[in-house]
Amino acid sequence: MSVLIYAENTGGKFKKSVFEAVSYARAIADQNNTSLTAVSIGNVDATELALLSKYGVNKVLNVSGDKLKEFVNQAYASVIAEAAKKEGSAVVVLSNTFSGRGLAPRIGIKLEAGVADGAVALPEQTGGSFKVKKTAFSGKAFATVELTSAIKVIALVPNSYKVVETGGTAQVEDFRVETKASDFKAMIKEIVRSTDKVSLPDAEIVVSGGRGLKGPENWGMIEELAELLGAATACSKPVSDAGWRPHSEHVGQTGIAVSPNLYIAVGISGAIQHLAGVSSSKVIVVINKDPEAPFFKVADYGIVGDAFEVLPKLITAVKEY
Ligand code: FAD
Repeated sequence: MSVLIYAENTGGKFKKSVFEAVSYARAIADQNNTSLTAVSIGNVDATELALLSKYGVNKVLNVSGDKLKEFVNQAYASVIAEAAKKEGSAVVVLSNTFSGRGLAPRIGIKLEAGVADGAVALPEQTGGSFKVKKTAFSGKAFATVELTSAIKVIALVPNSYKVVETGGTAQVEDFRVETKASDFKAMIKEIVRSTDKVSLPDAEIVVSGGRGLKGPENWGMIEELAELLGAATACSKPVSDAGWRPHSEHVGQTGIAVSPNLYIAVGISGAIQHLAGVSSSKVIVVINKDPEAPFFKVADYGIVGDAFEVLPKLITAVKEY
């Protein structure tokens, strides 16, 4: 058996979440004393493909061409399944991103494989079965699922596994798959706003604001702190509903789920629907003037205070640091 990693690209580049998934797949390959192959789809140049070997990929299957330039769920799932068949892969790893979440079950069907999406840790292996810790109920809880099928598909949540450089070189092989017209019948597009700011789903630090900030005119403090920390900005649902911030920043059950190393919540009450999207953050810091705010129950650090006094002091402290 071998392990296959789908190396998803964004505009021809690999994000950190891909290198995390490669490192995760490498660890599974090492546990099973086997090799790791990456499959890349779309037009990714040789320099970018070579990066994959830094994290332990032994071989890259490169699928290029105009037909597969844009992400199409069914067609990409067919290509990845064919790559897994070619390599005799018993484990297929993806990033638990917008496209990864759509691909995992489709690949599962094509390979008759058990699927664990939302994985947050390496599987515990006993015999041929994998126990995988994963998020459940929109991030409100963790569950352990047991995959007993011969082939397993695992989608790893960004920021839940460390990038590990191993070095090495990987041969790059052009890989061609005959896709069917039916593979292109439906296309789900992710519309990503082009910005020079840190992308929210991949961010290691997120500074998030809620209704406690009173209005859009006060977001300068959030943006300034985020810039100083190299963080992405986010908000609660009522804030984006009111048009204070774009909907692309709304986190929670009905918005984006994030799992940064540090989530700073300012003037957010901590309703269950908000926590659903942020509770797998490693460290949560809450700034709220109400000591009874529910967010404090899940916070690692809490500051009871007025955001309009605390944030300027925090910004000054970070600048001096
Ligand atoms: P509020 O609840 O109004 O809280 C504001 C907080 O700011 C309070 O805790 C207050 O003490 C504090 N505050 C006020 N002034 C200051 C100050 N000067 N300094 C410091 N603190 C201050 N919400 C989401 O966020 N994401 C979702 O995905 C989402 N999905 C939902 C889905 C459904 C089906 C439903 C019914 C609701 C959903 N909601 C979601 C809404 C959710 O229930 C809450 O209403 C929302 O999260 C509250 O937003 P908030 O904390 O910004 O505002």
